[in-house]
Order: sequence, then C-alpha cells, then structure tokens
Amino acid sequence: MSATIETALRRAVEDAAADLYVWSLKDIPSDLRDALGAALERETHQVGRRILETIHTNVAVADEGKRLVCQDTGIAVYYCRVGEYFPLHPARIYAALKAGTERATVEHPLRSNTVHTLTRENTGANVGYRVPIVHWDFVPGWDGLDVKCVPKGSGSENMTFLKMLVPADGVAGIKRFVLDAIVDAGGKPCPPGIVGIGLGGSADYAMHLAKEAIARPVGSRNPDPLVAQLEAELLELINQTGIGPQGLGGVTTAMAVNIEWAHTHISQLPVAVNMQCWRGERACALIDAGGNVTYPD
Ligand code: SF4
Repeated sequence: MSATIETALRRAVEDAAADLYVWSLKDIPSDLRDALGAALERETHQVGRRILETIHTNVAVADEGKRLVCQDTGIAVYYCRVGEYFPLHPARIYAALKAGTERATVEHPLRSNTVHTLTRENTGANVGYRVPIVHWDFVPGWDGLDVKCVPKGSGSENMTFLKMLVPADGVAGIKRFVLDAIVDAGGKPCPPGIVGIGLGGSADYAMHLAKEAIARPVGSRNPDPLVAQLEAELLELINQTGIGPQGLGGVTTAMAVNIEWAHTHISQLPVAVNMQCWRGERACALIDAGGNVTYPD
C-alpha cells in the first residue's frame, strides 16, 4: 500500500472517530427517539409523565442548540468490524481512533472524564492507558471497516452486574438475577433505557456480550426464538417493577431488553447485566478501502 493511501485512511478513521464521539453525545438514535415518544404516550403515572416530558424537552433543547444531550461524555468505547482486506492494520486503526478521541475532546471541547484509576489524575483528553477501549471483530472476504462508538456515562455503567449461576438455576435463576439487578439499580442508571444481558461464554465474555447487547437498536430481536422470547418476558417483568422514569415511578423502566448469548461450559451459567440510560449514546461509521466515510443511522 502506498504511503499516500495509508495517510488518507488514517486520517479518515481519525476524523470518523472524532465525529462519532461528538455525535453519539449530541444526537439520539431514531429508534430511541421513537421509543421515548411511545413511553410518554403510554405513561399513566403522573411523576413518570413529567419526567418523560422533561426528557423530551431536554432532547429538543440539545437538538436546537446542537448541544450535548447530557453532561457526561462517558468513556470512549469503540466496536470495530474490520474486513479481511481493509488496507490499514488494526494497530494503526487503534492509533487513529485514539487521536480522533483526543482531538474531539480538545477541539469541541468535551469534558474529560479519563483519570488514572489509583491516583485519579485526569489525562485531560479522554484517552489514557488502554483508553479508548476498542473491541475487534474480523470479517472474512470484505475490504471495509465498520466503527461504532458507544461512550457509556457512569450512571448507567456503574449499574453493571455479573453472576456465575449454576446450571440448576436455569431460566428462573436468570430472571431472578436480572430483576434483582434492576431493583438494586433503581433510578441510578437514568431509566427508561436499554437493559443489556449477556448469557453464557465465560465471565469476561458474558460481560462483553451484555455490552454488545446495549448497542443494539430498540425493537430489534435476537434471531434465536428462545432468546427472543426471554427478551420479551424480561421486558414485561422489568416494567412491572414500577421503578419508572428516573426511578420515580411509572410503567416504563426499560424500553428494551436485548440479550446476546454464547455457548458455555457444562457446569457454568454466566449472566451479565449492563444498562444503557435513556440517552442511549451510539453512533456508527462505515469506511471503505478508499477512505470514503458514510454514517448510517
Ligand atoms: S446515566 Fe446517562 S443520562 Fe444519566 S447522567 Fe449518566 S450519561 Fe447522563
């Protein structure tokens, strides 16, 4: 590959990272906008309605002024699907994502949340050791790059739960654990949002799956009918808790329950729960081998 193409691709990935980080904080995806509208329509609880109306005003003010929807700029997390023939090595993609994150933070400017875990010293640019966090998937026979930015705010990210159930706990045990997590979390993850659940794999992989699940659009269903049925049953149970918008009561505590799963060990049943707040920060870019960038919704 010529140095010119490599420079153009690095620049395209860096620009896309900078755009995605800012857009994911300013623009709520259309599926979430629709789901927030539907939540307001069906809300019967007086305080729940008032909270949802305030959320709608918040979104309108952010749209009008092109402002951030919430002050928490999260921690930069990207999901990359790299085509087998995409002509930029993942090490260089990572460097470009990091440069884009830093540039967005400094130039916008965005609040920097990234600190040393022990000293709590702020790096000032939302990057640091192993930050941004990047997850990789490799796609055979393709020459493109798909980047999704999902910067989780801490209110929702702190409400994360993992349990290694035993197989005898079964589906009833999964439901009990998820409902306990929702009740423990209450209003802290800024409901109504998306409840992401990772089932199976190992402890670390279950958590990875839960995080993948929160990045799936509202209204999508897991392709496995058994898992899709569990998604629907859990959504109904969660909304029966009455926790409601911001935890102040109401009929919508979650707008969606999304489950991702993997096979697991004969003696394990890992279950992870990760919550996404109503803001649902998420933005995607598609970059082709020539460095052309498109932004699907
Ligand atoms: S949980 Fe979401 S809406 Fe609530 S403060 Fe954090 S980023 Fe903002």
